[in-house]
Amino acid sequence: MSRFLSGRFVALEAYTPGEQPRDKRYIKLNTNESPYPPSKEVMERISKEEVMALNLYPDPTGRALKEKLAALYEVNTEQVFLANGSDEILNFAFLAFCDAQNGAVFPDISYGFYPVYAKLYQIPFEEIPLKEDFSIDSKAYCGLNRMIVIANPNAPTGMALSVGQIEEIVKSNPDHVVLIDEAYVDFGGESCIGLTKKYGNLLVVQTFSKSRSMAGARLGFGIAQAELIADLKKIQYSTNPYNINRLTLAAGEAAVESDAYYKENAKRIIETREKTAKELRELGVTVLPSKANFIFAGSGRLDGDSLYRELKAQGILVRHFEKERIRNFVRISIGTPGQMEALVSAFQKILAERRERP
Ligand code: PMP
Repeated sequence: MSRFLSGRFVALEAYTPGEQPRDKRYIKLNTNESPYPPSKEVMERISKEEVMALNLYPDPTGRALKEKLAALYEVNTEQVFLANGSDEILNFAFLAFCDAQNGAVFPDISYGFYPVYAKLYQIPFEEIPLKEDFSIDSKAYCGLNRMIVIANPNAPTGMALSVGQIEEIVKSNPDHVVLIDEAYVDFGGESCIGLTKKYGNLLVVQTFSKSRSMAGARLGFGIAQAELIADLKKIQYSTNPYNINRLTLAAGEAAVESDAYYKENAKRIIETREKTAKELRELGVTVLPSKANFIFAGSGRLDGDSLYRELKAQGILVRHFEKERIRNFVRISIGTPGQMEALVSAFQKILAERRERP
């Protein structure tokens, strides 16, 4: 830390992204990326002409992409917000809708970035414990009158709430924003986008990083009523108007056009997830019921950190979180069927070695 950093950030603990080691080639199942490439249309759209136009700033309104998303999700363009990854929308939402008097609420086990944003902006926050079975206690979020942030499906558990449960939360906090982070919704969850027609306080956030195979392009979007979107735009135009680069906007348009390709990939990922979960359960591993492109798994025979290390030694990267209630689990992204077969074999080997030890 340098002597120049403002005192208000000295104690701030920044978010830690999943590791990207370079020492050897790993089967990378630690950051919930798609194992499948972007569509043919996306590759064709990043043409020489597109690159030649990089001397010009991108369209700060992202109109063409917004029109495509609005048509796909049956809303109007004023209800769509575009950002440099959905992380940027989360950042803007904490900045726009909270302050020292207006705090935030989220589950105690969820996306690790939520408390980082709250601390960055010195926003008081409450973390509501997950229930015994690791599901979100939706009733506990009713009538709180603070900004609520819920990942649905939740991370790293993969477990989802129904649209009905979310509606109760939204309805009972009419004067505060309820942000539903649907980063993983395309893998079997139910989207709340339809509820934005009825509720002005609902902000639904999605990303192109997971089901649309574009984590490297950094593109996220939010859907809400126009009034709320205008607040986010105010923050965008006060920080970084050209927040999405030209190539990403072009790739995003092509990706929306290839919706069928991505739906097919999501279907394959769901099938692979279910097969992997079944095989791990047959080995005696606990696997939470997931509606995401990852599973959360743990074995009574060794703690999560040892599991993470032993899988890494076998060339497979997964994610472990050093947090009391989940320290015996690891989060495993769903890769190709071949990668998941390698994962199940690695588990088999690790668990057999444990059995043989006295
Ligand atoms: N929300 C959740 C729940 C996530 O797991 C992630 C991915 N780390 C994000 C948002 C951010 O995704 P991105 O910025 O790539 O859109």
